Amino acid sequence: LQVIERVQDMSRWSEVQRRDGRRIALVPTMGFLHEAHLCLVRDGKKRADRVVVSLFVNPKQFAPNEDFAAYPRDFGRDRGLLERENIDVMFHPAADEMYPAGFQTQISVDKLGCFLCAPHRPGHFQGVATVISKLFNIVRPHVAIFGEKDYQQLQVIRRLVRDLNFDIEIVGHPIVRETDGLAISSRNIYLSPEERQAALCLSKSLSRGECMVRRGETRGDVITTAVRAEIEKEPLASVEYITLCDSATLETLEEIREAALLALAVRIGKTRLIDNRILKPLG
Ligand code: AMP
Repeated sequence: LQVIERVQDMSRWSEVQRRDGRRIALVPTMGFLHEAHLCLVRDGKKRADRVVVSLFVNPKQFAPNEDFAAYPRDFGRDRGLLERENIDVMFHPAADEMYPAGFQTQISVDKLGCFLCAPHRPGHFQGVATVISKLFNIVRPHVAIFGEKDYQQLQVIRRLVRDLNFDIEIVGHPIVRETDGLAISSRNIYLSPEERQAALCLSKSLSRGECMVRRGETRGDVITTAVRAEIEKEPLASVEYITLCDSATLETLEEIREAALLALAVRIGKTRLIDNRILKPLG
């Protein structure tokens, strides 16, 4: 495993790989790697000759009141995990390497960056779109892999790639879950044992919504009300949003006629968790 910290060194490495006709996959992460990250990395290995995993806790995607300083970090462990996966490069730039003095450009994906998480996380998707654009230009991958857990992020990036003509294939990887259904997340480490149990209400409530749709319910408000009721049974949980929306535009749906996205954000104690599921109506 080669650890690269400089933008210029990263670009040079990629240039050599491209010149030699090798296909490069990029898996962007904020580190504190877990099984879901490793699933994305293995997916990348199948799709390319070389895999670059970027590890960068991007200050620009955290709002001022969020957990940037507290976000879990363990470089040594991450490095060991990637070594075991036989990964070629870990790109690990410092914040001032990515955002040197004078930096002032922002990428904003207007509509997609307005729904779901956006009102609750001001500036988040601009921060994501900006750092991902930079990573794409620095690493110049042929393919990049993102998790469907961050469904809105994935849609923002798909749009960004189309709108700015990045010649990169974007792959969405299905949500990786613990055996009891909790979506794996670096932030799960914040949960106390009691909160960890309470956090099951996210996946359980999505299953409730899914069951209703399987039985023929199509009204958005009826479904989201039932999902909310399921979460509100859990005293440690407080709902930030629950939305049933078009899976491409993310616009709220009153009625579902084709596969739609049920997405939610819930606080368990102080920890903010997200989850989602695609619901397919009958026939
Ligand atoms: P993060 O380090 O949280 O920014 O995540 C890096 C990448 O891993 C993003 O594309 C996430 O969507 C993806 N990811 C994180 N957790 C999961 C999960 N449980 N299932 C699938 N992808 C995930």
